[in-house]
Amino acid sequence: MFDQPFSYDGTTFKTADSVPLEHWRWPNFTPAELACKGTGKVMIDERSLDLLQSLRTMLGKPIYVNSAYRSPKHNKAVGGASQSQHKLARAYDVDMKNHDPSNFESMARGAGFTGFGFYPPKPNGGHNFIHVDTGPAREWGQRWLPEGPPIPTAPEPLEAAPKTSPKKRRRRRKFGG
Ligand SMILES: [Zn+2]
Repeated sequence: MFDQPFSYDGTTFKTADSVPLEHWRWPNFTPAELACKGTGKVMIDERSLDLLQSLRTMLGKPIYVNSAYRSPKHNKAVGGASQSQHKLARAYDVDMKNHDPSNFESMARGAGFTGFGFYPPKPNGGHNFIHVDTGPAREWGQRWLPEGPPIPTAPEPLEAAPKTSPKKRRRRRKFGG
């Protein structure tokens, strides 16, 4: 008899602490940060996490994961799609606070991610992340506005009248304020 090669695939660990680390090969990620935000359970899809680690290495800066595995119950509670790749531990919602979204997307595609959801910030804050997964190739949501000069909210008046004429200014000086 000989041992099966170890794999994290297919196991739901009750807590982050119960995930064995002898075979952990993703130096920039911990079981705790990949745990279900609702139940604390951890599921690892090795291929997906390999892609996330290689993306992290390509980018050379931290990837903050807002949401990775979601237990079916938690997925329902947060209004996730019933077929969500999060339930299979094949999806990551990555905070864009320290990334250029367009660069992140192209690097993530290069790393091998196939599913993309775009959640740019809303006027009242909230969203600012990209969902990446290793499920069927598809995408949804609207990309971030391209960077450029700020769009004026009101047109400039064609001829702005000077606030004070030189004459008035002189007079004011004379009589004091
Ligand atoms: Zn997601």
